[in-house]
Amino acid sequence: MLAIFLIVWTFITNNKQEYYTKTEYLLGTYVTVRVNGDNTSPVLLANAAFKEIKRIDKKFGNNNGIIGELNSSAGEWVEIDQETAFLLKSAIDVAKNTGGAFDPTLYPIIRLWGFDDINAEKRVPSSDEIEEALMSIGYENIELSPEGKRVRLLNGAQIDLSGIAKGYAVDMAIKKIKSIDESATGFIDAGGDIGIIGPKFGSRPWVIGIRHPRSEDADKVIDYVYMYDGAIATSGDYERFFEVDGVRYHHIFDPETGYPADNGVISSTVIHKSAMLADAYATAAFVLGDSPGVTFFPRFGALAFLVKKDLTVFKNAGFEVYLNK
Ligand code: ADP
Ligand code: MG
Repeated sequence: MLAIFLIVWTFITNNKQEYYTKTEYLLGTYVTVRVNGDNTSPVLLANAAFKEIKRIDKKFGNNNGIIGELNSSAGEWVEIDQETAFLLKSAIDVAKNTGGAFDPTLYPIIRLWGFDDINAEKRVPSSDEIEEALMSIGYENIELSPEGKRVRLLNGAQIDLSGIAKGYAVDMAIKKIKSIDESATGFIDAGGDIGIIGPKFGSRPWVIGIRHPRSEDADKVIDYVYMYDGAIATSGDYERFFEVDGVRYHHIFDPETGYPADNGVISSTVIHKSAMLADAYATAAFVLGDSPGVTFFPRFGALAFLVKKDLTVFKNAGFEVYLNK
């Protein structure tokens, strides 16, 4: 009797530990897929997820694919597919909802500072260069035709979707996994943009640490969040930066100034149903910082957790629900 119990018990626990984990460098970051499904090999599920992420990386990552085509279109109308229209429209919506703190037309500024490419030279541009680049910046410069089949960039605008494409890739990879095996559970983490495929072992939350933004130790955590579904994304000034004369210049820009955002926040985390929107609102929250803008986030289904320079925390009402199991 006991032997049978032990065998059954071992079988159940082994089964539960069968999460398969795979990491690859994509979208300019480490992407981890941790997955298990009742009906399909987790290896197959992970591979399908990576295939989808690679497709999106190729299409929307950096200045290649359709984005490169748009950026060299010199104000002409360009035909776009439904997916491109959806991503652009989503980016414009977040820009509108955040008073332009999130702006998908920052490419000229990002390039000037050398954050468009890991291999590009990073430098502090002159204020004249920044002034000039700022002239073409503004999400209103993206003109989407009413039926969403064409787009035109006005005033020399150029697009960078890095602040939203990673989250979109996570959403789409999860959708892909679910289309193959609806019972699948696990998560996808694309450099701090995390989408939940399903609860751990079908019923338990995934415990996600929000990184301490000023600790040398990358594992030090400022708080824990418990997620059964949905998505969470963090933007921090410690992720990509360079230093000149002891000043840190990071990769999230204030579209108003053309300089790295410096509005009192050093790390911003956003929970949203969609990883794409968690990603974009986290970037926006970092720019908005201490300003009242973030207090409107719950209207857009977003809940923010901001760490300020003095390491105090601001949370939207409702965020605390996720701080408990
Ligand atoms: P990460 O997860 O790499 O920290 P984010 O999601 O915060 O990235 O997005 C930062 C990237 O988005 C930058 O590398 C840049 O390409 C672009 N970006 C920078 N500032 C903004 C902004 N204010 N609005 C939209 N995109 C931005
Ligand atoms: Mg982001």
